Amino acid sequence: MNDLFKFLYHKWMPGNTRWYPFLAVYYLTYSCQFRCPYCCDGSGTPYYKLNTESAAVGQAIQYLTRIRSFCKDVVISGGEPLEYPQFSAFIKQIPALRFRQVILTTNGFAVDKFLETIAVAVDSLVFSLDTLDHGKADAWHGIGAGSLAKILGNIEQADRYHIKRYQITISSVVTPNNIEDLYAVYKYAKQRNYIFAAAPQLMGVKAHPELFNNPRYIQFFNFLIAEKKKKGPIFGSRLYLEYLRDLKKFKCFPFTMLVVAPLGEVFYPCLEIGHPGGHILTNMSLHRLRQVAARQFGSQPACDIRCHSACALGFSIFLQNPLPTIKEKFLAH
Ligand code: SF4
Ligand code: SF4
Repeated sequence: MNDLFKFLYHKWMPGNTRWYPFLAVYYLTYSCQFRCPYCCDGSGTPYYKLNTESAAVGQAIQYLTRIRSFCKDVVISGGEPLEYPQFSAFIKQIPALRFRQVILTTNGFAVDKFLETIAVAVDSLVFSLDTLDHGKADAWHGIGAGSLAKILGNIEQADRYHIKRYQITISSVVTPNNIEDLYAVYKYAKQRNYIFAAAPQLMGVKAHPELFNNPRYIQFFNFLIAEKKKKGPIFGSRLYLEYLRDLKKFKCFPFTMLVVAPLGEVFYPCLEIGHPGGHILTNMSLHRLRQVAARQFGSQPACDIRCHSACALGFSIFLQNPLPTIKEKFLAH
């Protein structure tokens, strides 16, 4: 199904019962060696406290083969995906699936061990980086001194890697405790021609209460919007950044995404609500899966002010106002 059809479908028939995702997210493992204080899923549970059982490589590749039949673009995420026990064997098989775009998110700590395989399989390598203050970062990561130094070294190594095909993105969580640090993180990204992506800390599905109407938070997003106007390398359109700044309610389109848990369960209607919608391998049709899950869990919810994330808000803005996103995708970077 081509993207134009999907766009028209979501824009003009959002209440229908078919499921045409633009983008899939596969949670390869929930394991993570870090203990970031803001870490949580939609229910508020840190990822590393979820069931850390993961699929064998052959199974995981089967899930992705099925995912590929629905989506051209995929995010491989976690937890920390590089903590997956057979990461090299897994990632080596990804190019054969012929995704248009493979996005890998990582905390960056172990990237040096896998660069050779990441370099040929990944189009977008997304590093989490919330501060350049070593003491603060090391305390947040929770594995002892030196973790930020190792991550920064790994980013540099990834940048210099001779056969890389990926664009590097620096992804920052904006919390009440690191807003001032993020100006330096943005400068670090900009100086190196990386994309900078910022999103508010979510506690479950809602932004941290101290971010609402917080002048320091608003000022930081105003800074990003001003940089964006000057063609700064910032993820998302101006409208998207304004929604993040104002933490406004937006109309969500959860069926623009397909999110799959480590053992193949499809989240219904979205990761954040997270009902077990059915297994990716036992359901030949996503439309059927949606229809069956809707009978059990209800149809698309009408949500309040929540989920200011790149995916949920990003697709909402794209459907409202597609041109800036299209221009950014094809004319920038
Ligand atoms: S790196 Fe990601 S998954 Fe790991 S603790 Fe931090 S936020 Fe959670
Ligand atoms: S706003 Fe969207 S992503 Fe968030 S809970 Fe509602 S449907 Fe799910």
